[in-house]
Amino acid sequence: MKKIIINEVKCKKCGDMIESKEVNDFKRCACGSVAVDGGHEYIKRIGNKDDIIELSKFENIVIKEVKKDE
Ligand SMILES: [Zn+2]
Repeated sequence: MKKIIINEVKCKKCGDMIESKEVNDFKRCACGSVAVDGGHEYIKRIGNKDDIIELSKFENIVIKEVKKDE
């Protein structure tokens, strides 16, 4: 399970960097080729994957195992 720290991409066509900072914070690049959405809740990408440079950062959530003596 990964926590989203930064939900951001760069468009290869126009060089625009767009970041979705909140859920439903839909951002489209200057040329309109790619868009991001989802904020820190989920990763949504609109457009051709070949036009997207992924800049998102994730944090690994460590789930501690609790051992119970039975
Ligand atoms: Zn663009």
